[in-house]
Amino acid sequence: MKKIATAILVFDLMAGLLFLGLWESNGEMITWKETTGKTVTGTQADRLAVPEQTHDSQEEIRKIAITFDDGPHPSYTEQLLDGLKERGVHATFFVTGEHAKMHPDIIKRMQEEGHLIGNHTYSHIQLTPKNREKFKQELIDTNAVIQEITGEEVQYVRPPYGAWDKSFEKELNMFPVLWTVDPLDWCSSNVACITEKIVDKAGENDIILMHDYFDTSVTAALKAIDELMEEGYTFVTVEEILFD
Ligand SMILES: [Zn+2]
Repeated sequence: MKKIATAILVFDLMAGLLFLGLWESNGEMITWKETTGKTVTGTQADRLAVPEQTHDSQEEIRKIAITFDDGPHPSYTEQLLDGLKERGVHATFFVTGEHAKMHPDIIKRMQEEGHLIGNHTYSHIQLTPKNREKFKQELIDTNAVIQEITGEEVQYVRPPYGAWDKSFEKELNMFPVLWTVDPLDWCSSNVACITEKIVDKAGENDIILMHDYFDTSVTAALKAIDELMEEGYTFVTVEEILFD
């Protein structure tokens, strides 16, 4: 009996020493240089964990932007803002001066909730070779309306129908933002069809064009956001797509 007890004790001691040894070799502090050039001190386990974490976080961020033109609409835009807030999604709104002036509270809410606000002319006019000065004045007037509400300078413009004159960029210090995915939401009242068009066409770094002036567009946009988030996309403002 005594022999067995001694054997168990010896075995236990050896196992304990072995465990201690393993723990020590894993816990030993070492110093290494990261790819950024930074010298880091830690355990071997820390060293192995670092590149893996960096790799994962880089791979996971697939950015995409959704934009809404023509608003704010007195009820649909608020509905949309509620939905975006619930999902923690930031969007970009290209508003007309006319509608912004009518609904300053909605513009303020967009700003407070982290959305980007851009210019979509005052009365939604299309630039033609004949109306250059009028178009330019509409941009200036809309900037003034938005700036009065938000206190911030407006830097981005979405020209209606995409018609633009590059010389405005220097003259007004404004940057045009077009789009890469157009589901033509304004010409369909079929929510499922609009959602499908967005989800099918959208990919990384795309800028989706929508309008917060129709309830079907708002419903479809939120559904598409849900599906794309499930696919791993992160919604950002156009600024983050264009300049990050
Ligand atoms: Zn428009």
